[in-house]
Amino acid sequence: MSLAERVMELSKRLFRIEDADGAGPLNFDSSPGLYIHIPFCPDFCSFCPYNKTKYDAELTVSYLNALKRESDLERIEHFSSIYIGGGTPSYDLDLLRGVVSHFKETTNGEIALEIHPADVSSKRLYEIRETGVNFVSLGIQSFDDSTLNSMGRKRQDSGVSLSSIAETTSAGFDFVDVDLIFDYQLDRRRIVEDLKTAISYGPEQVSVYPMMRFADTAFKNTKNDPEKELEILEELENVALAHGYVRDSLWTFRKSAERRKYSSVSREFFMGIGTSASSFNGKEFRTNTFSLDEYFSSLETGRIPARKIIKMGRFSAILYYSFWALYGGCLDLGSVEEDFGRLPMRMRFLLHSAIARGYLQRKKDIVKPTRKGTRKLHIIEEWLTYNFIDRIWTDLRREARDHFASLESTL
Ligand code: SF4
Repeated sequence: MSLAERVMELSKRLFRIEDADGAGPLNFDSSPGLYIHIPFCPDFCSFCPYNKTKYDAELTVSYLNALKRESDLERIEHFSSIYIGGGTPSYDLDLLRGVVSHFKETTNGEIALEIHPADVSSKRLYEIRETGVNFVSLGIQSFDDSTLNSMGRKRQDSGVSLSSIAETTSAGFDFVDVDLIFDYQLDRRRIVEDLKTAISYGPEQVSVYPMMRFADTAFKNTKNDPEKELEILEELENVALAHGYVRDSLWTFRKSAERRKYSSVSREFFMGIGTSASSFNGKEFRTNTFSLDEYFSSLETGRIPARKIIKMGRFSAILYYSFWALYGGCLDLGSVEEDFGRLPMRMRFLLHSAIARGYLQRKKDIVKPTRKGTRKLHIIEEWLTYNFIDRIWTDLRREARDHFASLESTL
């Protein structure tokens, strides 16, 4: 059995998805990152797997109150950073102002926001900066009309992509990330051109994601091809290097002089609030309900809205943590021992095998993936996405639909 297969086999045994009914507040040993999910979108894109609901101005007021109630129940006073994602959190500035003004005193780290290109204007960017947001992620996806159309992207064409990146990169934010997406089935010259175009505006980071085929999207009956995606990512790495950017994690390229990182997923420990938000405290990974109604009713009755949980022992938690650290480009064994105690024998053995087979390289306490290791990480990451994230999201979406159907039948 290959090392990647052994990691997948281990993950199947170690990570069991259970119902999280009756969950209490999560305890963290140090300040976690705060993720806030805003589920409202004015239109839905057909490739999108995220939990979203049609924008409704009236609901946003109740939603902001529910977010406050949820964070009160969790009783965490300080966060290392704040990340506001969605949905389309840049669509309603009143809601954004309410969220940032309520939570900004809880952090002295960055306040990051996902921005839809259609929401960009110099006035709006100025207003976003005024709220206290200083890191932004601009969801361009592509500068090419046929790519945007084939993915079912709404409210955007190539003109919007170009004007929004020009405005956002000159708006004075501390950090700008640009998100691009590619599909191995499309002409690869398009994503190469997209990357060159994004880099020409000088953002601190460009993230390039292969399109994932989640259940419940228009692409559910098609398959990824990790080998072809890897070839494309390696070609993109050469383009990035030639333009002064380095590959920072599996799918991100940052300016070579830039030391800061920006990501919603590779934070060590995080507390997620809002529908569908996930949290990880080093012992438990859990995800909230996808149903807006259930989210409101749980919080009205003082219950934490978590619906699914994966409980982890020390070894499984270290495995999970190490995977995401390597995905982010670097695993610091000193930090692992600080957070989890001495590395268990099984983990030492796994690391030793991965180093001996040329997947990882180690300098003192710092472990990094080699190019060969990066290829394996990509394959494992897609496997994890389909076997855990997609499963949890599919279950929760079904539960949300059932909840809605039972509500309708009582009306
Ligand atoms: S991709 Fe973004 S804007 Fe499109 S439906 Fe999904 S969350 Fe909404």
